Amino acid sequence: MAACAIAPSFRSVPSAARPFGCATECHEKETAVLGQAVRYVVKRFASAGSFPSVPRLGLDQESFKRLLAAFRLESTPACEAVSPPEDFWELTSLLIESGDGSEETRWVAHAVATACLADDHLWQDLGLPDRNALTRLLERYFRPLRERNVGEMRWKKFFYKQLCERAGFQACKAPSCRECSDYPTCFGKE
Ligand code: SF4
Repeated sequence: MAACAIAPSFRSVPSAARPFGCATECHEKETAVLGQAVRYVVKRFASAGSFPSVPRLGLDQESFKRLLAAFRLESTPACEAVSPPEDFWELTSLLIESGDGSEETRWVAHAVATACLADDHLWQDLGLPDRNALTRLLERYFRPLRERNVGEMRWKKFFYKQLCERAGFQACKAPSCRECSDYPTCFGKE
């Protein structure tokens, strides 16, 4: 597979120093998946008339410009000046806290939080082929958070459960998942 042109910061990391022991070919695949997700989210949610719409994926103007350049995207027509809901910002914070502090990780966090506002499974709202591709992406950028999803809960459910727990809310109907009527909604095939 030809080396991907996106995410140059990551591509330049020597293989021995790359996280998760992933070989070069594996990282090129992951980088291609990242490009697929970012392009999809920008086109679908950061364009005029999109719904939900998140202008610049919630990034500041300069960072969004760098994202467009890194992923070879044309600038999008400005969408209406709507502010993302509060949980968008809470979710980006949750993700960013679990990342390595790089701008690339912030881009992914904003893309994931944006896709969480739509109605389908998260992998679908990121334009990915399946849940596995999404899980690998989350493992690469937000590994501590990914590892907390030990039961393989659906990703959107998992993220919002984390936010509820942070806020001190008990979002669950039952004391344990095994006896909960919502089990299929939380853990069903995604
Ligand atoms: S299955 Fe029930 S108890 Fe488990 S996370 Fe979902 S809502 Fe909470």
